[in-house]
Amino acid sequence: MMKAKKRVLFYLLDGARPDVLSELLKEGHLPNLAQIKAEGGYREATTCFPSTTGPAYLPFLTGQFPGPMNIPGIRWFDKKAFKENRWSTAAVRTYCGPQASLFNTDMPSDRPTLLELMGESYNLYNMITRNVPDDHDLGKKGKSWLYLRAHFLKRHHPVDVQGHERIMQLLNSGKDLDFLFAVFPSVDWDSHYHHVRDHRTIAAYKIADNSLGEVRNLLEKKGWWEDTLFLLTSDHGLTPTHTHLDLASWMTDQGLKSLSHPILWTSNPKSAVMISGNSFGSIHLLNHPGGQPLNQQGLKDHFGAERIQSLLGEKAVDFAIYRGIKEKEYIVENGAGTATVFSDRQQFEYHPLTGDPLGLGDLHCNSPRAALEATFHREYPDAMVQISQLFESKRAGDLIISAKNGYDLRGTWEFPEHKGSHGSLRKEHMVVPMVCNQQGWADHATRTADLFPTLLKWMGKPIPENCGDALI
Ligand SMILES: [Zn+2]
Repeated sequence: MMKAKKRVLFYLLDGARPDVLSELLKEGHLPNLAQIKAEGGYREATTCFPSTTGPAYLPFLTGQFPGPMNIPGIRWFDKKAFKENRWSTAAVRTYCGPQASLFNTDMPSDRPTLLELMGESYNLYNMITRNVPDDHDLGKKGKSWLYLRAHFLKRHHPVDVQGHERIMQLLNSGKDLDFLFAVFPSVDWDSHYHHVRDHRTIAAYKIADNSLGEVRNLLEKKGWWEDTLFLLTSDHGLTPTHTHLDLASWMTDQGLKSLSHPILWTSNPKSAVMISGNSFGSIHLLNHPGGQPLNQQGLKDHFGAERIQSLLGEKAVDFAIYRGIKEKEYIVENGAGTATVFSDRQQFEYHPLTGDPLGLGDLHCNSPRAALEATFHREYPDAMVQISQLFESKRAGDLIISAKNGYDLRGTWEFPEHKGSHGSLRKEHMVVPMVCNQQGWADHATRTADLFPTLLKWMGKPIPENCGDALI
């Protein structure tokens, strides 16, 4: 007998929170997903830092975190490139807008994506489209118009509904496929502009559930369903936002005139501020010679201990992180004191010094998996691994700011106003739901990065090195 052909359907419910999803499942609002949960399973997983759309797609699509991929935010700044030539395209980036297409070439070329590895791959609405032919990019036609209308009229759902129609067209076309990666963006949008539990946000969850129901029906008729791995997950959670601290304006008020999106032509800037999500901020000082990132000593010299204290005193700021004097050591600091994080990619340590800003006590773990297990249920899940991976990128700021829940770091230029945020290291942003129709998965603590080797293994494909552990 011939071995049945395997396929993977990946639904990315962008911004879905595990608690909201679980409530909706329990209350019977997502019947198709509930059936899958009963047949397969449900678990929670951690995403990456910054917990923001785009960079947070990298773990499952490439098995890598944003730091090693050198894409440390949905907006980033490259001090060295900027100092060499401020108008270079390698100096400043925002993937919110036309530069989204640069994501493909910004990624290291030797790190393939699932869309490149899984065979006949189809993409819906995800901006990471390297080597995906146009006719395999289901959402591409009409996407910019539909997205623009969604943004300015706050009418998001037509995007998800059209996405579902394109999936059905593909499945009805007679073409076969190995892998479909489909993004449903409205839960994220509705959570940003309304509330994580607004009726419009809930309706967006239901659109994905309806889609799943129709798709499953069709696959059952085709005899494909049993050997298809169906997975639904998310890239980050969100929390409601009541107050904005515009970090770029704060820097300017401190006498360090700041360059930030969308005003990139600021003359003689003394700093650059890049915000993601909007609860993640990256501060780059420009008031010193050279293009290197500053460490603890450099910050003291060019930012000043007083400014750090005053920044940590802002209500919006949960903590700051910066490079230590020693290699591979990072300082986490809040108003109550500092702790160090050390990692050489195998050992992971957290030591309170004058305080314990992450509330982890003293920790020493001998593997990335152990470092996840030790922190999975804490306020800052996977903190040691996530902090150290971020700083593998020289584009990670001299100072990284993680905001408190309820606050974000971008006020002036955000239109429409954001009423929900993500990007921080808090568990509400870091933990995502994962529902799968197949059984027999490992039961250890999970990262979304583990999906990359898992899906390749399901398909019987070779797995590149250094990319997390398969769950099956
Ligand atoms: Zn997102």
